Amino acid sequence: MSAFTVINPSTGAAIREVPRADVGQTDAAIARAVKAQRHWAALAPVARADALRAFARAVGGAAEELAQLEVLNSGHPIGAARWEASHVAQVLNYYSADPERLSGRQIPVAGGIDITFHDPYGVIGVIVPWNFPMPIAIWAVAPALAAGNAVVLKPAELTPLTALRIGELAVEAGMPEGLLEIVTGSGSVIGQRFVEHPDVRKVVFTGSTAVGIEVAAGCARALKPVTLELGGKSSNIVFADADLERAVAAVPGSVFDNAGQDCCARSRLLVQRSVYDRVLELLEPAVTGWRVGDPADADSDMGPLISAGHRDTVASFLDDANIAFRGSAPEGDGFWFAPTVVLAEPSDRIAQQEVFGPVLAVIPFEDEADAIRLANDTVYGLAGSLWTENLGRAVRVARGVQSGVLSVNSHASVRYSTPFGGMKASGLGRELGPDAAEHFTETKNVFFATDEH
Ligand code: NAP
Ligand code: MG
Repeated sequence: MSAFTVINPSTGAAIREVPRADVGQTDAAIARAVKAQRHWAALAPVARADALRAFARAVGGAAEELAQLEVLNSGHPIGAARWEASHVAQVLNYYSADPERLSGRQIPVAGGIDITFHDPYGVIGVIVPWNFPMPIAIWAVAPALAAGNAVVLKPAELTPLTALRIGELAVEAGMPEGLLEIVTGSGSVIGQRFVEHPDVRKVVFTGSTAVGIEVAAGCARALKPVTLELGGKSSNIVFADADLERAVAAVPGSVFDNAGQDCCARSRLLVQRSVYDRVLELLEPAVTGWRVGDPADADSDMGPLISAGHRDTVASFLDDANIAFRGSAPEGDGFWFAPTVVLAEPSDRIAQQEVFGPVLAVIPFEDEADAIRLANDTVYGLAGSLWTENLGRAVRVARGVQSGVLSVNSHASVRYSTPFGGMKASGLGRELGPDAAEHFTETKNVFFATDEH
């Protein structure tokens, strides 16, 4: 089997070689998953629930190891990486209830009994990007397994290490061999094969809008359902009646967390014109105080970008930008990039395109209607925040902004118990929340005639 080299983004150094699967090896993984799924779906519901709980415990026991791997492979600050690893265990625990709770319905009909069943699809293909390797993988893996499916998982080529370890932990915890197959290598080979292969019955894709459109087109040709979690250009709207100190203190985390490589990053800061100068004055020390450094150091707020190529892309957005101020970043071999605040017009490239780096575009607005119009002036619709002390305004603006996930006086976007996903070019379908396992099932309706013949 050929192989590729995984790089530490904090140093540029090689970490280790990982197998590069070809189409034949991908097909073999899918075949193992087909076999394992038949066995899994035939188990008693409580046996599947217990197996998922054992898997969760194994991940919990290995949380520190997984966190350290993510620091090494993705440059995530250790505190964030620990959260991500324990989140994997929590998501598995949350969905471990579903094997025993995926009830169908009994529907009143004439001449008999009518029942619906939630049947698993079979094998689910999951394609994951490099920005949050652990959470994004488990958001699909846990509910898909809970619903009685097997999963073939393709991590991003840049960040396969935690997925590989989670696959091993599943087997160590007693999950059936083949039920969760991790297939490493190139997206255009393995991901494309998931889309085409007739035994993969549903695809969950998280990544760029451009690739997502191709995946959806391929799934349409194969008549298979697809969930898409794509890009974002989310707004953080600060009204003059907000608690400005609190609102501004939260800005760096809302856009610079994970070095801005977050589909939910609030990369546009919309500020009511009457407080625009005051907000910028408060923002500068908050940004220069954002600590960029060694992700293994618990005091670092932010690590490097994921790759040299990605750093070039992020930097290219500053070519024609009106920079207000920047924070600092280490020199040296890693893919470092200083947090940057840019003053922008709504139509500027930096205000419309996803940068996926630590760059904030600040845009003034006049009034509530203007704020809603600017927030919606994007092809995307994933996340967003608004800050106001006026309850009626909070409700009106939250209802008016076209995004899948919004928060008021907060930047929280992700909880495993609440639905997550985007509108418009940000995606199709929702993950997480109480209904996610059902999204990995097809409804079967069965009528039992009871009249005497
Ligand atoms: P990407 O290039 O679209 O890649 C995502 C995944 O798709 C990777 O595993 C990639 O494999 C694979 N892939 C590439 N070409 C493919 C093809 N032709 N068919 C099937 N799969 C293919 O995105 P990225 O650069 O990794 O991630 C950044 C993007 O993801 C951003 O736009 C971000 O907004 C978005 N994102 C969205 C969410 C969300 O929940 N909405 C979350 C995180 C990220 P390789 O390993 O070969 O690259
Ligand atoms: Mg890519």
